Amino acid sequence: MSNGMMIHKYRHEGLNIVLDVNSGAVHVVDQPGWDIINLLEQGYKRNQIPRTLQGVYHQQEITEALEEIQTLMENDLLFSADYLEGYERAPEHVIKAMCFHMAHQCNMTCNYCFAGEGSFGGEKGLMSREVSFRGVDFIIQNSGLRKNCEIDFFGGEPLLNFKVIKETVDYARKKGREAGKEFKFTLTTNGLLLNQEVKDYLNEQGFSVVMSLDGRQKVNDRVRTMKNGSGSYDSLVPEYLSFVEGRNHQDYYLRGTYTAYNQDFFEDLKHLVKLGFKQISLEPVVAPSEAPYALREEHLPELYRQYEHIARYYLKLYGSENTFTFFHFTLDLSQGPCIKKRLAGCGAGTEYLAMSPQGHLYPCHQFVGKKEFLMGDVTQNLQYDRDLYQQFLRVDINRKEDCRTCWAKFYCGGGCHANAHQFNGDLYKPYTLGCRLEKKRLECALGIQAQLFLNHEQNASKEASREP
Ligand code: SF4
Ligand code: SF4
Repeated sequence: MSNGMMIHKYRHEGLNIVLDVNSGAVHVVDQPGWDIINLLEQGYKRNQIPRTLQGVYHQQEITEALEEIQTLMENDLLFSADYLEGYERAPEHVIKAMCFHMAHQCNMTCNYCFAGEGSFGGEKGLMSREVSFRGVDFIIQNSGLRKNCEIDFFGGEPLLNFKVIKETVDYARKKGREAGKEFKFTLTTNGLLLNQEVKDYLNEQGFSVVMSLDGRQKVNDRVRTMKNGSGSYDSLVPEYLSFVEGRNHQDYYLRGTYTAYNQDFFEDLKHLVKLGFKQISLEPVVAPSEAPYALREEHLPELYRQYEHIARYYLKLYGSENTFTFFHFTLDLSQGPCIKKRLAGCGAGTEYLAMSPQGHLYPCHQFVGKKEFLMGDVTQNLQYDRDLYQQFLRVDINRKEDCRTCWAKFYCGGGCHANAHQFNGDLYKPYTLGCRLEKKRLECALGIQAQLFLNHEQNASKEASREP
């Protein structure tokens, strides 16, 4: 097979799953279908197949499977061509979202924090009202005709600067109205300052909220420590629970990080579900390999098993009152990602920028403080560096060698630029450990969708057979 045609075949929980990479179609096939697709992938011609499989299956089985496969191919659902090969993203110069680093300081001292206790390797400090307002002006000026814009309040710990957050929200709503824009806000918090006043405010203003907690108490408290060295679990769990229940479990993520210390992170996921959380994300720590908590290649088999456990658990609870969402298993197979997302998953440096407390602009929060990626300064003017913009626009899956031939490319979009830069010093060279985990998560996510689809079909046919 050629012309960018690509499939990914794997077995998941007893199912033979075939992903047609370019169309995004997912097929669950029986054994004859699996073997025929295998032969076609190896370059066998259709008319060679009956003889090749003679004695393995009945001729009728082979003929039927071949016909079904032929129909899928004719409908561009199997071995379809890569219509995005060579496609280049045109510069649009529309910034739709910004991450405001409200505080480069933190009231916790988590071991693995990439922000170095919130300061990102620079000076500690809070964003002033003036800088924050200029950030809003920047978005309005640089978002073109786009109506919906987003601000993520981030840190360090952004709630250390709650007053300026509130003033910024008021300012953005007022200026947005005048300019025909609507702002949506997200807060990423370690939760220590999530008191009733803050909770009420976040609910009134329709914030999305990302809250940190790593799972079981001993896991969380080993790494997510307060300034006095004690753990944060006991203070956080009751506050988080009352908050998410108060917003009817809408629009939040409980975000944990797993490390080499809790390679059994399925237990953490279960723990969080049993506590009553319904929107959960557990992310692998990204850390230099010499760190004691860093994830390494030799951990992968265990980490894969954990994702398989989570996928099984997800299906077991699906439809019950304990149904939960696991961030990395959410896929929209009906729509598929849009072209821009397919080519370059995150919009860092092109649609999305981060702003430091001093008003300096960077491609995203993980680049903040890296001088070679400084893209602008809102205290000087409301422009940004077009060369760096072009540089990020060019980093897409068609130009990254590893991604071009990767079956996961249209879901992954080429991985995290910041991780590529951190580990390989090269935006074009993905962080391989991250790739392996991404692919495993995708296999589980597609497997879940396939299983749910089959369950649905079985139920429908049972219903039909019951009808008089
Ligand atoms: S998994 Fe890795 S190689 Fe594959 S598309 Fe993503 S970043 Fe590229
Ligand atoms: S570069 Fe990485 S950290 Fe930055 S926005 Fe993209 S995915 Fe997120």
